[in-house]
Amino acid sequence: MTRDDILANLDKPWDIVVVGGGITGAGVFSQACEAGYSCLLLEQRDFAWGTSSRSGKLVHGGLRYIAQGQIRTSFHSVQERQALLKRYAGLVTPLDFVVPVPPGGFIVRCGLGCLLAVYDQMAGRRSRQFIPASVLANHVPPMAAASRGAWQFTDGTTDDARLVLRVLADGRRLGGVAANYVEVKDLLRDATGRVAGVAASDRESGRTWEVRCRVVINATGVWADELRQALGYPRQLRQLRGSHLVFPHHRLPLTHSIALQHPKDRRNMYVIPWEGRILVGTTDLDHQAPLSYEPRMAPEEGAYLLETIQAAFPDAHLVAEDVISTTAGVRPVVNTGKKDPSKESRDEVLWVDPGMVTISGGKLTTYRYMAMKALRAATRELPPPSPRTATPETLDGLSPRLLGRYGPDAPRVLALAGDGGLQTIADTQYWWEELDWAATNEQVLHLEDLLLRRTRVGLLLPNGGADMLSSVRARVQTLLGWTDDKWNQEVVAYQALWQTAYSPSLLTRTA
Ligand SMILES: Cc1cc2nc3c(=O)[nH]c(=O)nc-3n(C[C@H](O)[C@H](O)[C@H](O)COP(=O)(O)OP(=O)(O)OC[C@H]3O[C@@H](n4cnc5c(N)ncnc54)[C@H](O)[C@@H]3O)c2cc1C
Repeated sequence: MTRDDILANLDKPWDIVVVGGGITGAGVFSQACEAGYSCLLLEQRDFAWGTSSRSGKLVHGGLRYIAQGQIRTSFHSVQERQALLKRYAGLVTPLDFVVPVPPGGFIVRCGLGCLLAVYDQMAGRRSRQFIPASVLANHVPPMAAASRGAWQFTDGTTDDARLVLRVLADGRRLGGVAANYVEVKDLLRDATGRVAGVAASDRESGRTWEVRCRVVINATGVWADELRQALGYPRQLRQLRGSHLVFPHHRLPLTHSIALQHPKDRRNMYVIPWEGRILVGTTDLDHQAPLSYEPRMAPEEGAYLLETIQAAFPDAHLVAEDVISTTAGVRPVVNTGKKDPSKESRDEVLWVDPGMVTISGGKLTTYRYMAMKALRAATRELPPPSPRTATPETLDGLSPRLLGRYGPDAPRVLALAGDGGLQTIADTQYWWEELDWAATNEQVLHLEDLLLRRTRVGLLLPNGGADMLSSVRARVQTLLGWTDDKWNQEVVAYQALWQTAYSPSLLTRTA
């Protein structure tokens, strides 16, 4: 479907309009389509532009939630982790974690062992094992904290933006329509005051629509207060920013993820191998900037993350100059006014109003559970479901990575390759054919969509991949139907954005 075809659909009446194209909105969209409802999803920027491309990439139960007594959150997360490892195998993959036991840490060792026993119990299988210090040296580079060995257990990881795209594709296959760069400006109300649709505007052309539906599902994450304010509610969400650093793998050659604590405040942190690089996160602090700006890491967050990794791996001598890129995202969390942001609950929140259901908070990992709750709450506004399923396709013999990322479309991505097979982009795990596919099939409107979310090469290559932009141009400019002027504008905009929000220079920038 071209963008014009998609936008031509907006005027018709829908059962459900989902506002927000992050993982929660995508989950509601695909489940609504599976239930047989006509469903439109509107995203103000690009799909996954919000928090869902800026997470810690973990599909996890959250061990620390058990320690904090958030048992319900951890239980649902573990169940969902197991389900996603199966449903999106190749995109959601197992990730071995190591938790070091510090010197004199007998009590820590026992306490951790108990937490992990509960964690395993929730998943219905045992993954934990204790690794003595002598064996640990074979798994990870020298770690300052691990003189008494470490616990190992298995969680999961993913490419968060690709997960959003895969879930959206599931919904589209069942007849759903999803439009990016279409912003919901207001709610439409009927004579009784009930929400009856949305007023939407195309950010590219300025064209506007009044879209009618039986129910609006507000899945706008950290923006959820904004639509609810239109109904007269006060703000209830706390905006908490978290940032990450991306390092080259050769500077810290880990095969396992490590759970760590910051050396001073003992906050829990993690270091994970991701897409052939090393991701270090995360911070947790109140986000003050307007949400319309691309979030970015503050220098003090960079220093805090560096301190953690330097203290944990002193022999690696990691410095700011090693960083390839930085990311920052804003968590939607219900505000209970806790002094320590990390103590605010990560549970989801559901608010039901006549004609509109709001679902926010929660985690990437629990999106299916959140989507199910939102749809269940919306059923009183809807006719009974008439479930649909996509015709299964035989997909044997394809690479798990290709299958995980593209599902039933994987053979069509592979068909773009010549006799030499799929061609890898620089020293990443991405293929050039993925750019071809995205440019023709994945609603790419801007260069940043292609390099930061359809693929993540903008996070993995130095300077956002500046050295390969001419090759990207040769590959996709015609497919995208862009003139030379448009290409040049896109490059300028992408590079400015990258400098503002993703550059390692944010570690040292003063303003
Ligand atoms: C630093 C950090 C690390 C994290 N790590 C993990 C992790 O490792 N594992 C995990 O499970 N969870 C993690 N999370 C939490 C997880 O990322 C979020 O819970 C999840 O991505 C939220 O998804 P969402 O769809 O609700 O929100 P979003 O992804 O923010 O999507 C909301 C979308 O709504 C759009 N929107 C807003 N207003 C409008 C409008 N008026 N019209 C149209 N569209 C609109 C926005 O542009 C946005 O794209 C992390 C969060 C952060 C910040």
